[in-house]
Amino acid sequence: MATFKEFRNNVKPNWCPGCGDFSIQAAIQRAAANVGLEPEELAVISGIGCSGRISGYINAYGLHGIHGRALPIAQGVKLANRELTVIASGGDGDGFAIGMGHTVHAIRRNLNITYIVMDNQIYGLTKGQTSPRSAEGFKTKSTPEGSIESTLSPLEIAMSAGATFVAQSFSSDLKQLTALIEAGIKHEGFSLINVFSPCVTFNKINTYDWFKENIVNLEQQFPDYDPTNRIAAMNKIMETNGLLTGLIYQNTQRKSYEDMISGFGKEALMKQDLSLTEEHFNKL
Ligand code: SF4
Ligand code: MG
Repeated sequence: MATFKEFRNNVKPNWCPGCGDFSIQAAIQRAAANVGLEPEELAVISGIGCSGRISGYINAYGLHGIHGRALPIAQGVKLANRELTVIASGGDGDGFAIGMGHTVHAIRRNLNITYIVMDNQIYGLTKGQTSPRSAEGFKTKSTPEGSIESTLSPLEIAMSAGATFVAQSFSSDLKQLTALIEAGIKHEGFSLINVFSPCVTFNKINTYDWFKENIVNLEQQFPDYDPTNRIAAMNKIMETNGLLTGLIYQNTQRKSYEDMISGFGKEALMKQDLSLTEEHFNKL
């Protein structure tokens, strides 16, 4: 069985020293090993941005796609080869600005893939402009007098789009993040994991210290929290101003998209004499 080291390659990440994205890369590698994957069973599809480089830094199938389009590619990969575990990844600008249309529809489509957003609340690759996740009043070169737009809440949007798995973590909490990615991979449907990942070079407001002071850890602060309760999940997101971490919501009752396609589900495929056996499906 592969260890997390086997998900490393010899490409040296060119993220700035201290960037939160390093820990997210490590968490994906650990989670992949912990759920028993081999590198050839994993595909990592990314969009454009500093975070988009991640597909080149993991020893697995990878595709560094185009801006905001990680999810259409990832969904195509999954539909073409259901045996692959597919992780899509990108930044908050990539997924919640140019890619938001895809994000909402991928959530409601509920294909069995995991989407990890590296949320630094700024555009890093283009040297620090306001993103949809930046706070009101946030000053950058693109908003020198402070942002006058309201901040997008991806968790509220995901819940209202019918998400079956919504989680949030912090790049510094490797233990929680790894466990959530493992749970997301195991979830039979679309899993959204938004990860606070500080941009140490351009975001001087939402720093490691800022997150440590403001994050609400669900498991520690609300041990009785029930992630199967959709209304409670929405309430908790709003009560904490979207700063909660942990497993926020999971619905295991809804089937994944691929399992609902007529002629594409397990029974239908087995009827078509493709020399497929029960054992084959047990691996999926
Ligand atoms: Fe990370 Fe920001 Fe540097 Fe990009 S610019 S690598 S997001 S610290
Ligand atoms: Mg960003």
